[in-house]
Amino acid sequence: MRAVDLIRKKRDSGEHSRDEIDFLVAGYTRGDIPDYQMAAWLMAVWLRGLSRSELAALTEAMLYSGEVLNFSDLPGKKVDKHSTGGIGDKTSLILAPIVAAGGLTVPMISGRGLGHTGGTLDKLEAIPGFNVNLSLAEFRNVLQECGMGLIGQTKEIAPADKKIYALRDATSTVENIGLICGSIMSKKLAEGIDALVLDVKVGSGAFMKREEDAVNLAEVMIETGKRMGKKVVALITDMDQPLGRAAGHANEVAECIDILNGGGPADLRELSLELSAWMFYLGERTTSVDEGRHLAQTMIASGQAREKFKQGIRLQGGDDRVVDEPHRLPQSRSRVDIPSPTAGYVSGTNCERFGIALAVLGGGREKKEDAIDHAVGLQFHKRIGDRVEKGETLATVHYNGDARLAEAKALIAENYFVAHEAPRQKRPLIRRVLGA
Ligand code: URA
Repeated sequence: MRAVDLIRKKRDSGEHSRDEIDFLVAGYTRGDIPDYQMAAWLMAVWLRGLSRSELAALTEAMLYSGEVLNFSDLPGKKVDKHSTGGIGDKTSLILAPIVAAGGLTVPMISGRGLGHTGGTLDKLEAIPGFNVNLSLAEFRNVLQECGMGLIGQTKEIAPADKKIYALRDATSTVENIGLICGSIMSKKLAEGIDALVLDVKVGSGAFMKREEDAVNLAEVMIETGKRMGKKVVALITDMDQPLGRAAGHANEVAECIDILNGGGPADLRELSLELSAWMFYLGERTTSVDEGRHLAQTMIASGQAREKFKQGIRLQGGDDRVVDEPHRLPQSRSRVDIPSPTAGYVSGTNCERFGIALAVLGGGREKKEDAIDHAVGLQFHKRIGDRVEKGETLATVHYNGDARLAEAKALIAENYFVAHEAPRQKRPLIRRVLGA
């Protein structure tokens, strides 16, 4: 087999056999197939799509590119959550401590920023000293000690996704149902979990802009998980505007701390409680989702989730003082407000562009090797439906260098939409639950 022939086959809308997909995934993971050939194949897939059997073969090839972990010796059920990504989507840092404090084990393998979206690993690295590159033995020890561990794909676990993920990020080959399913499910199935809650985002800041595509993606991921004997549900949730008030890295960590302290924005709190509730229920810690929500609230109100977050940070080498003193997180040198050009009501946002504004300022990657500036961030003051006066601040930009500030400001100002009338319909944050 030759990669060049398989690229041509997919370019010409052919369907791959399982052996062909195994050849591509294993060859790229080993380093026998170079980036440029894999990038060309990914673009062919992006354009032509994958059949259901290709998608299953891709997910399995990516999963078995590394080890499948087994934590059956650790007490209790192992559960996780994964989101398809968006702007200000930071719930992993909230759920992991809530659910671990509530008695389940959360072995979370996450990703870095992808496309215009932020990544859990990059956010965690805003905490001074936090190490997302634990060895397998270290990961196991951390889980044993505190019930939560957050790491990235490694050479041992989901190594195919580690490489393909970074390549997709830099080649605009992210928004494809087959590639997203392979990426997410290969990581999650490698974790040795019993149950998985998926947060599938839909809207202008998501990879899936239309609800039917989000549902399609959710269904293939649920089917993949259930085929492998896992309990899986998917919540289809709104990403037509940022989640919470903060996007970036350090400021998102600070917002998570606000939630764990019992404060924080209502939408972020609502979604965090709902996802935790499903994790508790699927992990058989509670007998209903309602009871799960109550347990999640108790974990926050009692301070146990907050203490668990500190313990998790400490065990992964981070400075847990950030939880009591968030000013220890990286801070930007400068700030500038984005004023509303007119009076009216916020009618919508094209929030994918907010993610691009962050990247332009150094808070995201444009090339694989780019370093992230964790202090760069956006603070959103107005949400859809809010009244705004002319000149009133819509958002604040936290930045360190002004080389591309004008570009970033324009991206934000042009993608906050203000209309004379308040929007009639209020769309719910959680649109549907699938697979329950
Ligand atoms: N999250 C992932 O881990 N992979 C994707 O492809 C998209 C979101």
